Amino acid sequence: MTQPIATAIAGSLPKPAWLAQPEKLWAPWQLSGEALSQAKADAMRLAVDDQLRAGITIIGDGEQTRQHFVTTFIEHLDGVDFVNRKTVRIRDRYDAEVPMVVGAVERKRSVFVDDARRLRLLTTGPIKFTLPGPMTMIDTLYDDHFRSREKLAWAFAEILNREALELAEAGVDIVQFDEPAFNVFFDEVRDWGVKTLERAAANLPCKTAVHICYGYGIEANIKWKEGLGAEWRQYEQTFPLLAASRIHQVSLECQNSHVPMELIGLLDGKEVMVGAIDVATNRIETPEEVAATLRRALQWVKPHRLIGCTNCGMVPLPRAVARGKLHALAAGAAIVRAELGWA
Ligand SMILES: [Zn+2]
Repeated sequence: MTQPIATAIAGSLPKPAWLAQPEKLWAPWQLSGEALSQAKADAMRLAVDDQLRAGITIIGDGEQTRQHFVTTFIEHLDGVDFVNRKTVRIRDRYDAEVPMVVGAVERKRSVFVDDARRLRLLTTGPIKFTLPGPMTMIDTLYDDHFRSREKLAWAFAEILNREALELAEAGVDIVQFDEPAFNVFFDEVRDWGVKTLERAAANLPCKTAVHICYGYGIEANIKWKEGLGAEWRQYEQTFPLLAASRIHQVSLECQNSHVPMELIGLLDGKEVMVGAIDVATNRIETPEEVAATLRRALQWVKPHRLIGCTNCGMVPLPRAVARGKLHALAAGAAIVRAELGWA
C-alpha cells in the first residue's frame, strides 16, 4: 500500500430497495432479465461511489450482484442440485435449507469476472474482490457425492483458483477468500483448511486475503457469541497457521468484540485488516472510536501493514447506517494517519 492505514470494507454493502429487499439475507431480486442485469450494474456504481466519497482507499463492489456471499458462487457450478435442498446445520450454529452436491463439481464459465471488469472501470485505485473460501463453501452444502468434507474442499479450491486467476487478469489487486468457518472447525483448519485455502490462492499475480469473522449481526450469531465467554481466543488457533501461509492479508473482527488485540501479534509479517466497524449494531461509530481501535492495533502491526476495515459484511444494515460507517472508518483512519505525520 502506498500510504499507511489504508481502508477497505470486508465485502458486502446494503443493496438499494429497487434491487433487493433491504436488511435481509438471501433477499430475492426485485427485477429479472436484462432489467436485473442493469440494476445490478447501477447498484455497483453507487456502492463504489459511496466508498469513494467516504474516502475509503481499497474499493470493493459491495457484492451488489450476489444474493449471498457463498450460494451465489455455488449456483454457477455444475454438480450441485439447487432444487432438492437439504437442511443442514451451518457452522454448528443454525439450520438452513441448502443445495445438495450430487456429482463432480465443475465451473463451466467464470462467475464474477464480468463484475470485476466493471468494477475495474469505476476507479483507478486498488480494488478488492471477494470469493467464498473452500471450507465455508462446503459448510453451506449437503454433500451426497464426495461424502468427505476434505475432498469436496479440494475440489472447490481448484475451481476457486481458476476463478481467482481470471479476477486477477481482469485487474483485481486483492482477491479475498471469506472463511468464517475457520472460526469454528479448528481441527479441520489445521489438517486441511489452510492448505485448501492456499490452493485456492496459488500462483495469483495479485495479493491474496482471507476474512475470518464471527458472522453477520443475525440472531443465531449473536446468541453464539454470548456463549463464547469473556475473551474470544478462536483466532489464536488459526493465526499461527496463516502466518506461515502464503496468504498476504488477514481480515479480522475487533470493534466491540472480545478478541484480545494482542492476537494480531501472531500474524507477524502479514497485512492485517482490523475490523474497526461493528456490523451488528446500527449505531454509527465516531471517527475517534475508529481511531482508538486502529491505534491499539498499531501496537502489534506496522502502519503500512494496517488496513482499517469493517468487522464483516454490511449487507443487513440500513443503507444510511452503512454510509455513515464508511465515513467514520475513513475519518478514523485519517486521524491516525495525521498523528503519524501522513496527513
Ligand atoms: Zn464476515
